[in-house]
Amino acid sequence: MKVSSETVVYSMAAENKPVATCKPGNTIIFETKDCFSNQIRTEDKLFELTDWDTVNPATGPVAVEGAMPGDVLKVSIKKIEVAGQGVMIAVPEMGFLDKYIEESQTKIIPIENDQAVFNDKIKLPLSPMIGVIGTAPAEIAVPCGTPGSHGGNMDTTSIKEGADLYLPVFVEGGLLAMGDLHAVMGDGEVVVCGVEIAGEVTVKVDLIKGKSISDPILENSEAWYTIASAPTLGEAAQKVTDNMFEFLSQRLSLPTNEIGMLMSLICDLEVCQVVDPEKTARMKLDKKALAEYDLMF
Ligand code: CA
Ligand code: CA
Repeated sequence: MKVSSETVVYSMAAENKPVATCKPGNTIIFETKDCFSNQIRTEDKLFELTDWDTVNPATGPVAVEGAMPGDVLKVSIKKIEVAGQGVMIAVPEMGFLDKYIEESQTKIIPIENDQAVFNDKIKLPLSPMIGVIGTAPAEIAVPCGTPGSHGGNMDTTSIKEGADLYLPVFVEGGLLAMGDLHAVMGDGEVVVCGVEIAGEVTVKVDLIKGKSISDPILENSEAWYTIASAPTLGEAAQKVTDNMFEFLSQRLSLPTNEIGMLMSLICDLEVCQVVDPEKTARMKLDKKALAEYDLMF
């Protein structure tokens, strides 16, 4: 099943009509526009000249048959392919470097030989990731540019090929949507963008019943991550720490204090992004230290 980037939403919402319905276990290709709806193709087109109503489109949503509030969607990211050209912007009063940016600028980033060409001397290996991915929140619609418990604009570098993302289901069908690919991004996304790019994402969607989560969880071959967003980085850090404590408490038969001690040794608190304008943090749990336990979702 392929979902065209002509069918997008600008907010994740219970009332969004699904553009398709899949069965658990199905593989789906989401064709995605970049976060500017592919409006910026040349360096003379500044962010201020774009139609802001069409920023951060997410392709979909796709309903998952049988998904009900309290379930979990497992989204296995099989493949991310990006287009031949990406774009970056620097805009006064936007991002963490706002005080230094005096003039708006658009920079086109060609993609050549699996590298993002920043200039003749700086060519960065592609590491494609999904900026916006989520389900529909329970009640109030959330713009796709904002992250939350449902996912959304998490701009998290670990949401990439080979990762399994677990998302809470808040409404019937779950309503999975995604977009805003980045060909390259550093943790933090300090200037307010990565290499913004259109592309195609291939995912396998599974439905997990009988296990609820409050916020997204991610797994890859090396680690587990809790991911959460909040108005401040401190609050986001607290949430991911609480969520990791809960994750481990449910899976390790160790006393509370020792789970805390263990987390203090083997968990890394990391920054996803600081500009959306909510902040997103993640806590990374290295699988190696717990190899004897074989943790499962
Ligand atoms: Ca983003
Ligand atoms: Ca973006």
